[in-house]
Amino acid sequence: MAVLPNVLKEKCPNCEKGDIFESSGNPLLFRMPKMHRKCSHCGYNFVQEPGYFFGAMYVSYALTIAEMIAILILGKFIFHLGNISIFFIIMVVALVSSTFNFRLSRTIWLYMFRKKNTAEQPGVEP
Ligand SMILES: [Zn+2]
Repeated sequence: MAVLPNVLKEKCPNCEKGDIFESSGNPLLFRMPKMHRKCSHCGYNFVQEPGYFFGAMYVSYALTIAEMIAILILGKFIFHLGNISIFFIIMVVALVSSTFNFRLSRTIWLYMFRKKNTAEQPGVEP
C-alpha cells in the first residue's frame, strides 16, 4: 500500500482502484477537471459534505507557491534570468499546471481525510 503512487495516479483512497476524476481538464481550452461523486469500484463517497473541498484550496496554494519558488531559484541562480523573464515563466507555468494542481490538491485532500472501510457513508447525493 503505497500512498504516493496512488495520489499521483488519482486513485480512490479507499480501494485504490477506482478513478477519482472522469476528465483531466485542459487549461488552454478553459475546461476544469470533472470528479466522480462516488468510486466506480467500491462506492466510496468522494464528496463527504457540502464544501468538502474548500480546504483543498490551501493545498493547491501550497503546491503553486512551491512551484513558483522552484522556478524562481532555477531562473535566478541556475539560468541567471532577469526578473521579468522569471515572472513570465511563472505565469505560463501557473496557467499550464492549474488543472494538474487542482486534481492533485483534491486528491491529497481526500487522502488526508479518508475514512477507511465504509459500509455506510453519509454523503451528498447529486
Ligand atoms: Zn474505491
